[in-house]
Amino acid sequence: MNAAVPANASAAPTETDAVVIGAGPVGLFQVFELGLLGMRAHVIDSLPFAGGQCVELYADKPIYDIPAIKVCTGRELVARLLAQIEPFAPSVHLGQQVDTVRRETDGRFRIETSAGVQLLATTVMIASGVGSFQPRRLKVDGLAAFEGSQLFYGVPEAAALAGRRVLIVGDSDTALECALGLAAPGPARAAKVTLMHRRDEFKAAPRTIDAVRRLRAAGQIEFIAAQASGLETAQSRLAALQVTTADGTTRSLPLDTLLVLTGLSPKLGPIADWGLALERKQLVVDTAKFETSEPGIFAVGDVNTYAGKKKLILCGFHEATLAAFGAAARVFPGKPIHLEYTTTSPRLHRALGVAPPAEQ
Ligand SMILES: Cc1cc2nc3c(=O)[nH]c(=O)nc-3n(C[C@H](O)[C@H](O)[C@H](O)COP(=O)(O)OP(=O)(O)OC[C@H]3O[C@@H](n4cnc5c(N)ncnc54)[C@H](O)[C@@H]3O)c2cc1C
Repeated sequence: MNAAVPANASAAPTETDAVVIGAGPVGLFQVFELGLLGMRAHVIDSLPFAGGQCVELYADKPIYDIPAIKVCTGRELVARLLAQIEPFAPSVHLGQQVDTVRRETDGRFRIETSAGVQLLATTVMIASGVGSFQPRRLKVDGLAAFEGSQLFYGVPEAAALAGRRVLIVGDSDTALECALGLAAPGPARAAKVTLMHRRDEFKAAPRTIDAVRRLRAAGQIEFIAAQASGLETAQSRLAALQVTTADGTTRSLPLDTLLVLTGLSPKLGPIADWGLALERKQLVVDTAKFETSEPGIFAVGDVNTYAGKKKLILCGFHEATLAAFGAAARVFPGKPIHLEYTTTSPRLHRALGVAPPAEQ
């Protein structure tokens, strides 16, 4: 954590009981457990969608070890978790990283995101998993200056690329589907589509690879097996990417727009700077409340470490349950926090927005 600053130091932040950092499966379930105990939550994730690793790394692969669900995909699990937290209507801030967490003089925490969202929370629940997913950047000197104008690490609106010479770097479904979309006849068609990967093998779905091969054969997509090695500019604009092939030949690929779609890699990021006790880049917690070395900041899911830790979704759900009780003790000081069953508690039925079943 950063040094304490007086409350209301600048713009008035939004007050809340809890801020959940990370909208992966454990962060989402954390919202549910906080909600059951009557706490409001804001959830923040650097990805533009909820689901963490389940959606980013294995959206369509099966998971077999979620209790009472024989099998579901990563995406299906996240859809179920999102439906489950609906009654608690959390405020969700996607596509932005939590940059700072600092304690105010009144003991609460001020949280700031890369998009300028400011929150004032009684508790912070870190569910940041393996870290904040950031695009893998192309390492070419001087290239960063064109980010946002000619260089993009995501897929812009297709219409914005109509009539342009577009160079796409990557071998994933996203990269190949982007190439197919830009080469397809229609108003958004690019003037030229070049796909580059270091070898002529792709990790995209076989059907997508076949479709790209057909357009390559028809001359509608050019493919080059090479790696970026330099750049050329003209009138302060990126004019071409210099690339080197496996045999050491260097070529120049003229372009208007460069799309680097080589995937995302997790970075522990700013969490490392918040002054919390870490062990091998993971947050040390107790196993009664899953609280970090800083009272009021809890850590659940893949980001924490303790004796016997297993990085499983099921274990993260248990941690989130106990962390919610820990948070409740701070949000409602002096108030006894009772364990209630969702089956029988009228208070929980009201919180969940469900009518109690009629008495038999
Ligand atoms: C291929 C694969 C298969 C798996 N299969 C299974 C399985 O079958 N069963 C099982 O139990 N587990 C499985 N796992 C593990 C499981 O996915 C993880 O245990 C689980 O995703 C952890 O959830 P989490 O919410 O703690 O973290 P994550 O899913 O990593 O989510 C953390 C989120 O926090 C965000 N974040 C991080 N830092 C910040 C920040 N500063 N600001 C904003 N956002 C931030 C990240 O962008 C991310 O979205 C598998 C993992 C992989 C890679």
